[in-house]
Amino acid sequence: MRVFDMHCDTLTVCKKKGWDLDNENCQLRLGDADGFDSYVQLYAVFIPDEVRGERAQSFFGAHHAYYRRQLEHLGPRLYDVPDLAALQKARDRCGMSSILAVEGGCVYGGELGMVEQVYNAGVRSVTLTWNGNNELAGGVMDDGRLTDFGKEAVHEMERLGIAVDVSHLNDESFYDVLAATEKPVFASHSNSRAVCSHPRNLTDDQFCRIAERGGVVGLNFYNQFIADGGEGATFDQMLAHLDHLLQLGGENVLALGSDYDGADIEEIIDRPRKLKNFYQALLDNGFGRELADKIFYWNAYGYFERLLAGEL
Ligand SMILES: [Zn+2]
Repeated sequence: MRVFDMHCDTLTVCKKKGWDLDNENCQLRLGDADGFDSYVQLYAVFIPDEVRGERAQSFFGAHHAYYRRQLEHLGPRLYDVPDLAALQKARDRCGMSSILAVEGGCVYGGELGMVEQVYNAGVRSVTLTWNGNNELAGGVMDDGRLTDFGKEAVHEMERLGIAVDVSHLNDESFYDVLAATEKPVFASHSNSRAVCSHPRNLTDDQFCRIAERGGVVGLNFYNQFIADGGEGATFDQMLAHLDHLLQLGGENVLALGSDYDGADIEEIIDRPRKLKNFYQALLDNGFGRELADKIFYWNAYGYFERLLAGEL
């Protein structure tokens, strides 16, 4: 079976702790990927809200240098996917393949020219905000809106081929971004707000708007986003999100966005190898293999294939 996971914080945690990306203390363990026919992972550089301007740019620079060193150090155990040919190769390759991403549009330091620099560094997805406001837009715990700079930045991202990730935006900014963009946007790690009321989750309307555009939405494993009350999240509760979003027409939209190494995740799914149990839970609950494979891989694969082909 194949896995395509649209969000983790493993890169940022490992860099901070001075670990390699195959460190056994991580939730996302490189070795686990060997048990799958293909494993594509978006590795995000998470930039805290308070890191701004030139500091944000150099924060990214240090993490990018770390990522390049890790690619050299880990050799074939970590396969970098910056373009379409690499993605197509990753599709039939065991072990971990990685797409570089950034969580926090403050990476641009408020400078439009940085969008192309970030693209040239190999980044193919940027989450516009974290929980607070930044130069681009308003995060879910704050009251900002998409700014003039934010508009220019998303246009430049669309032009270059950096996926626009709307996870973490507040509701107003979410709709601002939709109005300012034409291409499919995606939510890398957000669940259904109808099932769990946390504001980090998407409303039904938001989910449908992403779907209409041809975007994708990754199921987040963070227990606070799975069930109200948080702790003790179960496969049944995770399936409730999938069931609800399928009723909204999510068959070609749903994907995975684990949030490994960035969230409290229950033991049932706190490592990649346990994804096999969750996959089995889908089958046991009447999801056909074709649908399960779409959610675990093909929907996200198709989105990034279109992005890297220049079709988005
Ligand atoms: Zn996040």
